Formats: sequence, structure tokens, C-alpha cells
Amino acid sequence: MRLTDSHAHLHFSQFDADRDAVIERAREAGVTAILEVGVDLASSKAAVALAKQYDFISAAVGIHPHDAKLVNPKTLDQLRVLAHRPQVVAIGEIGLDYYRDRSPRPVQRRAFADQLALAAELELPVIIHSREAHDDVMEQLRGWKGRGVLHSYSAGPEHLDEVLELGFYVSISGPVTFPRADRLREAAALVPLERLLVETDSPFLTPVPRRGRRNEPALVRHVVEAVARARGAPAETVAQATADNLGRLFNILP
Ligand SMILES: [Zn+2]
Repeated sequence: MRLTDSHAHLHFSQFDADRDAVIERAREAGVTAILEVGVDLASSKAAVALAKQYDFISAAVGIHPHDAKLVNPKTLDQLRVLAHRPQVVAIGEIGLDYYRDRSPRPVQRRAFADQLALAAELELPVIIHSREAHDDVMEQLRGWKGRGVLHSYSAGPEHLDEVLELGFYVSISGPVTFPRADRLREAAALVPLERLLVETDSPFLTPVPRRGRRNEPALVRHVVEAVARARGAPAETVAQATADNLGRLFNILP
């Protein structure tokens, strides 16, 4: 089974003690592509460095809504320079988070708009973080021309149509394995196969049966299997389609 992980943070300190072993386990588990995602300037640089070190890792650079206040003309210039590195395939993760509200909402919206503009200028797809902010995320995406993915989709099956109408992909993560996640499984079953991605969001959102421990890309298999069960499809079909989709959206060869 050819597995792919559309969203991981392997440069986080949780992996400092055994990063290479974690990446080796992913390779042994059949993971053929990992998208390593930055959340601020330093981690975006770290993502590029990791992607340089491993041929099956690609990088996304961007500033997370939690740190929206860091987005200014200077940091945008630094992101632009980084984004020209051959390992970089997307701008992300960017978006809005009204759950934690770590930056004021108007500041988040401005940072999101500025990074969407950067992605358009560079003709790169975007990786969107949207938490309790679906309507405002959609409003900003409707005014933007480009492609991308809603990472760790959590908005519910009733919001899928508007996401799909924009041409966006939907990435499903570990919570699809949780006992009480029926709405998420419903959404995972409704996404057209050609718009579906899977991810771990490592080190977070660890799937059952490892829930509560640190997540890692090798565990993406549990996400694929849960999505396949929800769709009544073979895991092989979901694995193959999500690998093809990752390759098409980010212009890489998984
Ligand atoms: Zn993330």
C-alpha cells in the first residue's frame, strides 16, 4: 500500500530525540511522501532543511494564525525568499483559528489575506488551518484565485459542498478513528475520491489505537483504513487515490 502524509511537523521538538528513526519507520511503513509544514519563520526554515535532507519529504512555508501578529512586510519577504527553494511546494499552514484566538481576529484575517496574496503571486497551492472559523475562511477563499487543501477537516459534512465548489481538497486526520467522530466519518465518506487527502498532523491528533501518544507519519495507515471503512472501499483504493491527489495538488511525485 502506497501511503502519503499531507501534513506533518517533524521539525517540532517532540522529535528531537529520534527524528531520523521516526522518518525511517515511515519509509518502512510504505510512506512515499510527507509534506512537512511550517508554522512560523523558524519552523518554515526547519521544514525546508528537513526536505533537503530526505528525498520523500517536501516543505510548506507559512505563518500559523496563532502567530498572525508576526506577519508583516519583512516576514512576508523572508517567506517569499524561502518559497523559492526547490523543496517548497506550498504556502502553509495559514488560516484562521477562532477556537484558541491567540491573535486578535482582525489580525488573523489580515495575515491570512497577505499570505493568500503571496501564494497567488508565487502560483503555489495553500494549506489551510480552519478552526471554528469556517465561514470567515470560506469568505476569504472565495475572493481568491488558487488551489489548496483544508487540512485536518473538521467543519462537518454540511459544509463540504462549498469547499468542493471552490476546487479545494479535503484532508482527513486521526480524529476519523475516534469512537464519537461519526460526523467526521460521514464527511470523509462524502468527499469525492479525487479530492481526498490524508494526513497525521504529527505530533498531534494520534489515531486509534495509539491515541494519547505522540503521532508519527507511519500511523497514517490507521487514517487510511478508517476512511476506507467509512466509504465502504478497500484501503488500497483510498491509499492510491490520496497519493495521486497529493502528487497532483503539490506537483510532486509520491
Ligand atoms: Zn499542522
